[in-house]
Amino acid sequence: EFAEICLKDIDQLASNSFPLCMRHLFGKLREDHHLKHGGRMQLGLFLKGVGLKLDDALALWKMEFSQKIGTERFDKEYAYNIRHNYGKEGKRTDYIPYSCQKIISSTPGVGDHHGCPYRHFSEENLRAALGKMGVGGHALDDVMDKVRNRHYQLACTLTFEAIHAASCDTGINHPNQYFSQSQKILK
Ligand code: SF4
Repeated sequence: EFAEICLKDIDQLASNSFPLCMRHLFGKLREDHHLKHGGRMQLGLFLKGVGLKLDDALALWKMEFSQKIGTERFDKEYAYNIRHNYGKEGKRTDYIPYSCQKIISSTPGVGDHHGCPYRHFSEENLRAALGKMGVGGHALDDVMDKVRNRHYQLACTLTFEAIHAASCDTGINHPNQYFSQSQKILK
């Protein structure tokens, strides 16, 4: 069965089932009406992976970007890349969503919002972001402990377990796996 998600559900899905890396990017897209290239790739391919259709993806990015740069510039400078990610332009490669390993080893620069928050956020920002997800007390201490030991995927797994009140025996190794396991529990 092929999963599909609707644009109207996306904010709800983001707050319930996106891992922190994607919640952060999605929040920044909504807030800044813009994301730099690395963020557009990381979030865009994730959204494709969770089942956002090309037309809905174009509508989402256009709705946000056009608030900042206008629809004309969006159509001219950004629409191509979105279609490209869906394999509709250029070599028609069907690009696959990034794994945790790839995201963790990326090197976001100033003004970039991609990457893995467990690896790339300051301790203060990470604590605040986890607090917003509802992770506190001992669970938060356990997550921060994994981060200090550079076990970023384990930190993400503990976050998953804390907010779903369920175990995740396989561990988290892919943002799209995080999403589908979350949906399985919540449905
Ligand atoms: Fe995203 Fe993976 Fe980092 Fe979790 S461990 S925040 S899913 S990159």
